[in-house]
Amino acid sequence: MAHIAVGGFHHETNTFAPSTAIYDDFVTSDAWPGLCSGNDIFEKTQGINLPVAGFVQQAKNAGHELSGLVWCAAPPSGPVTTHAFENVMEQMLNGISKAGPIDGLFMDLHGAMVSENFADGDGEILKRVRGAIGPNIPLVVALDFHANISPQMCAQVDGIVVYQTYPHVDMFETGARAANILNQIIIDGKKRTVALAQGSFLVPLTWQSTLAEPAKGIYANLDGLKAPGIDAVSIAMGFPPADVFDCGPAAVVSGADEALVKETANKTIKLLTDLENDFAGTLYQPDDALRLAVKIFNGNGPVILADTQDNPGGGGDGDTTGLLKAMIKANVKNAAAGIFAEPMAVKKSIEAGIGQSFEMDFGSSKRFNGDTPLHATFKVLALGSGKFKAEGPFFAGAEIDLGPMALLETGHEAHKVKIAVSTKKQQAADRAMFKHLGIDPEKCSVLALKSSVHFRADFEKMAADILIVEAPGANTADPRKLDYKNIRPGIKHFPGN
Ligand SMILES: [Zn+2]
Repeated sequence: MAHIAVGGFHHETNTFAPSTAIYDDFVTSDAWPGLCSGNDIFEKTQGINLPVAGFVQQAKNAGHELSGLVWCAAPPSGPVTTHAFENVMEQMLNGISKAGPIDGLFMDLHGAMVSENFADGDGEILKRVRGAIGPNIPLVVALDFHANISPQMCAQVDGIVVYQTYPHVDMFETGARAANILNQIIIDGKKRTVALAQGSFLVPLTWQSTLAEPAKGIYANLDGLKAPGIDAVSIAMGFPPADVFDCGPAAVVSGADEALVKETANKTIKLLTDLENDFAGTLYQPDDALRLAVKIFNGNGPVILADTQDNPGGGGDGDTTGLLKAMIKANVKNAAAGIFAEPMAVKKSIEAGIGQSFEMDFGSSKRFNGDTPLHATFKVLALGSGKFKAEGPFFAGAEIDLGPMALLETGHEAHKVKIAVSTKKQQAADRAMFKHLGIDPEKCSVLALKSSVHFRADFEKMAADILIVEAPGANTADPRKLDYKNIRPGIKHFPGN
């Protein structure tokens, strides 16, 4: 039996997004628990599709004694404030000194954090943690599929495992894999190497899905590269809307055989770079998407429009109205959109009551890229507490809390659109978010979702078709449209020769 410390600090930073992540964003619960400290971490994350939960279960099964440090996550946005970063790190390091002598440490990180002071937020976290535990205690980290992995991160740790799915349905499993690796390092005591091989081009988020080629085949081949002397072989696809030096896809391999680890990292990244020209897809403008959706719809499941650029999971605020306006204009019956983060609309709905109407300037609080609020009359169809259990495989096990919610309807005659509105922002990646307000997503004709890819985990099977729409929002779908200043020279901003 060994004594292992467990911590986590998640943020995916879109450096082009207008909002920052403040300390309170880490403290507040949403789809995942709010900040938890000490051994509370184990109870509050238990059974949720999160690396920390998978790690804890596996490590406990192996008979280890665990000490919780601090675990927290905030919704993707612009940089983490210095106040939030320093506050969480102080708790992390205090936790380490309180835990006493440890035999190993596990960190559950995202891997694409930028703070106001540190472009490589995760590298700084790991540098400080390494400084606190000294050079000889094994440190293993789990990272998101969208990590922008830096050499600094690799230099501080003895093992890295990355989710292998997008939608991320294997977060729990990734944590369990990290537990097995840390367990092995503690047993054999051999020194580990972590090798990084970065890709030569950015992969847009909407084409990273492992449900489709080429990513599906690339990830299916990873296990074949494992060999004695290697603990883990991973590819992170990277998070493109981050203007940092190490942005983009990378292969990361860890193990005890230094030469083999390095060689395997170079082989692994070739799985991706060899298929550069296969990363391709279509982005539709809102009006074009609606015209096509009307043609496709035949009564068998909704046509889903992914409002990818305002995806709160990519740093959007979940309140732009570009696609919604196109839906109202189009001749579609029984259309719905969500989830809009519009606290003022929820407040007005509660004041007005079910069946009543009110007028307001709805959404677009930041007027991002020329987007403007929708001025209209809204009828309140339903109200909800915003507290419900997730049903789909992505948010699996989570007790979601989006704050008070409302279902609104706007438009006229045949052009009415239902809008699911919440108080807190959250990616529309679980059908329960709509069912909570009495909408059956299966029965909609056109369903607009503020999500890029995660929605596929719970919505793809019932969809007649899925169209990716380029409507206003901070999560720019085509990286060629972003003004990078800090990314490393030579990396292409788009796949294709
Ligand atoms: Zn991710």
